[in-house]
Parts: sequence; C-alpha cells; structure tokens
Amino acid sequence: MLKKKGIVTVISGFSGAGKGTIVKHLMADHHNIYNLSISATSRSPRVGEEEGVDYFFKTKEEFEQMIERGELLEYTLFNGNYYGTPKSYVEEITASGKDVILEIEINGALQVKKFFPQALLLFVTPPDAITLRDRLVGRGTEAIDVIEQRLALSYEQSFNMSEYDYLIVNDDLNSCVDLVHSIISAEKYRCFRNTDNIKEMQNELKIFSKGELK
Ligand code: 5GP
Repeated sequence: MLKKKGIVTVISGFSGAGKGTIVKHLMADHHNIYNLSISATSRSPRVGEEEGVDYFFKTKEEFEQMIERGELLEYTLFNGNYYGTPKSYVEEITASGKDVILEIEINGALQVKKFFPQALLLFVTPPDAITLRDRLVGRGTEAIDVIEQRLALSYEQSFNMSEYDYLIVNDDLNSCVDLVHSIISAEKYRCFRNTDNIKEMQNELKIFSKGELK
C-alpha cells in the first residue's frame, strides 16, 4: 500500500488574483486534509481580523526578536511591514506526514523552496492583465494610485512566475479550487516523493528474486 507523505504547498499570486479566496475555499472543502499555516506580521489588524486566526499580530520589535531567535521559516518586508512563517507549526505538521498550505508572497515562497526543496509552488493569476486591473478597480477598496502601484508590482513579480511549479489561472473560482486540490493530490504520486515506497518494493522483490517460490 502506497504511503503518502505530507506536502508543503506554497500559494502566491498577484494582488487581486484571488489567492486568498481560493485558499479559504480549499480549507473549507478539505479541512480534514489541509492545515493552514498562520503567519506573523507587524502590520495592524484590519477590521474583522482576529489574532491567531488571520495572523499573529506582532510589534516591529517583537517580530525582529522572532527573526533573531530563528523562529521563522521565511520572512519578508512587504509594503513596509514584516510578514513571516513561524517554523514550529510547519515542522510539526510535516513531521506528522500531513499537508500544510502557506499563502505567502514571492520572496518568502522562494526562501521556503530553499528550506524545503520538495515544496510545491503554485502561482495564481487572473486570465489576463485587463481582468486583474478590472478586479482591483471593481473592489473599490483602494485609491487609483494604490492600484497603479499594485499593477507595477505585479509586472515586477511576473519575472518570478516561471520559478513556480504550476500556474493557476483563476477564471472560475470553483474550478480553480478543484484544480488546486487535484494538483496537490497528484503531486503525492510523483516518484521523487515516494522513494521510501520504491525502496520497500525493491526490498520485497529482492526476496522473491532469489527463487523463493520453488
Ligand atoms: P495582507 O497584508 O494583504 O494580509 O498580505 C500582504 C501580502 O503578504 C500577501 O501577498 C500575503 O500573501 C503575504 N503574506 C502573508 N503572510 C506571509 C508570510 O508569512 N510570509 C510572506 N513572505 N508573505 C506573507
């Protein structure tokens, strides 16, 4: 019987691509499979955000102490605020063979890949740039100059897209959530993630290869 190992999946994407919504739906549909890593940040909570649910909210000094103590798997400065993934949770979940999802930006994603080379990196994008602009404008939450900054950042980020393993085009939300779940499920069958199973099969076959059936 194939023993499947847990996977660290990193989901990034352009601001406005809908990665947060995809992750929320993925967790709602498959909460028995996926464990969501909760990041630490030095930004202030937004209305409705809860400590320990959306983020672990820290002061800048507290965050810097976490960095010094080596408590973060990765961290970055984004829009003037620190964001980082606490190491302990990810290590605990992966050690128990379960799946963990990280919804983080690109610098952090690439740091995770260095720490966990077997991490699966998914990049979420809208079908085209016009849709991205329209979604940002349609949200009506940001001023035009902020939207322009986000689009300029998206252009810069587009140069790192090819470092990801899969490109997730978010056209229809439900299909996208199903697609992400399918990709993660299929990844578990990759041979390089199943070296223990291969070894076990080799050991069993070795016994039969010595003419044990006669
Ligand atoms: P927001 O302030 O809108 O919640 O998040 C801003 C950006 O920070 C998003 O792109 C989000 O994915 C990213 N982010 C959230 N948590 C982390 C983290 O732990 N590490 C990194 N590198 N980025 C994060």
